Amino acid sequence: MRGVIYARYSCDRQKETSVEDQIRDCQAFALANDIDVIDTYIDRAQSGRSDDRIAFQQMLTASDRGAFDCVIVWKLDRFARNRYDSAINKARLKRNGVRVLSAMERISDNPEGVLLESLLEGIAEYYSLDLREKTYRGMMGRALQCKHTGGKPALGYKVNADKNYEIDEAGAQIVRLIFDLYANGKSYREILHILNERGAKTTSGRPFGTNSLHDLLINEKYIGVYTFSRTHRKDGGRNNHASDPEAIRIAGGVPAIVSQDVWNTVQERMAENKRAPARSKAKVDYLLTGKIFCGKCGGAMVGMSTCSGYAYYECSTRKRTKQCDKKSIRKEVIENTILRCTVSLLTDSVIDDIAEVVAALSRKECSENAELQSVEHALSDVEKRIENIASAIAQGIITPTTKHMLEQAENERAQLLHRKSELQSIGVYPITKEQVIFWLESFRNLDIDSIEDQHTIIDSLVNSVTVFEDGTLHIIYNSQGKNRTTKCLDLQRTGLPAP
Ligand SMILES: [Zn+2]
Repeated sequence: MRGVIYARYSCDRQKETSVEDQIRDCQAFALANDIDVIDTYIDRAQSGRSDDRIAFQQMLTASDRGAFDCVIVWKLDRFARNRYDSAINKARLKRNGVRVLSAMERISDNPEGVLLESLLEGIAEYYSLDLREKTYRGMMGRALQCKHTGGKPALGYKVNADKNYEIDEAGAQIVRLIFDLYANGKSYREILHILNERGAKTTSGRPFGTNSLHDLLINEKYIGVYTFSRTHRKDGGRNNHASDPEAIRIAGGVPAIVSQDVWNTVQERMAENKRAPARSKAKVDYLLTGKIFCGKCGGAMVGMSTCSGYAYYECSTRKRTKQCDKKSIRKEVIENTILRCTVSLLTDSVIDDIAEVVAALSRKECSENAELQSVEHALSDVEKRIENIASAIAQGIITPTTKHMLEQAENERAQLLHRKSELQSIGVYPITKEQVIFWLESFRNLDIDSIEDQHTIIDSLVNSVTVFEDGTLHIIYNSQGKNRTTKCLDLQRTGLPAP
């Protein structure tokens, strides 16, 4: 697993752990959990207020590119300024398949906080899905008129002021050349050689490769068919609209670059040469990463898969030093056991109890939002000062000093008002008990076979799992007093033989 470390230092805290100490702990955690640290992002805030977090933004951008699978923070409070920020950013990371792991907090000391944050994450995710849906509908409208919907037009086309496609002759010549060469029996390798000798480039300015060649040869746009689909947009330009039933497909919607005859010849040849594509081994999603521990030595258990394709959790101590002899356990078996246990635990009365606590915490946090309070204190201070100076001026005391003091105070007030409106816009509002109940009840209807639903259940509800050699599992949930011990006999039978 590839990971990055994010560390933050704010000098407004007393006894703040130095960035170097935070990073050292995070590195130790990475080692213990078999994570390759590929980058480190550090923010050193100048003060509590001017907290721009440039490195944090860079880390988010890198996650959009799929550069890593997890972010390690020293403690979860390093990750975000407040729970609302945290929820919004975690939802974004989750969409990118990235999870946030804490180096120091093996068991959360604030489990209802984890639940509240998961709920807020779900809300943030819902709003962003809603937004994407709206964006999609907007693109759909343009697509029905065969207009360009964004991104770079395909090689051989340009987009005019009305967003309609026109032929770009220079690119179109390369497209025709490629189709002709392939129709005349040339191999990909031969075509690539010819293209590179001519210095031909793709629309993104790179030399052609097998993938870009393949995508070009199956792009129906070149015989004048306008296509648009959700999946097409989602994975950045791959022409897989053929498999999308919702795709829009309009023949004659764009000017054609190759003839139907050449197109047919090319498609026939491609069908003949079609082999199973050499896909890289599917990435296994270990749901319990960071939450599962060895009952023998206390070490973390880490995901690993065998050449034969079976996935396991293995004790990291055993893996690194061979000083533990805990048997590995099959990923599917333990994950399914925990999912079943978790869902069965959610009875009406348990849901009611949890909802009560989470809603109370949300109310408390909203009324006690520390930063909002301190901003309001500072505001009333500065307003008093302005009043005093103003009355001094009214009494005729006008010196360069009073004028300067007034300017300073007014500046300060403007800054405070700005931060106050920022805080309010983050949406610091309480979650009701009914909302929590609705959310928790939805877990009972989730489809345990869907990976996404499995993630939701484990991420929100399961705090940690310890696996003992006799097949006993000790599960700690993110809800008060809901610890559970389960005996899972299957685990014994599916243990890996010691190497
Ligand atoms: Zn162990």
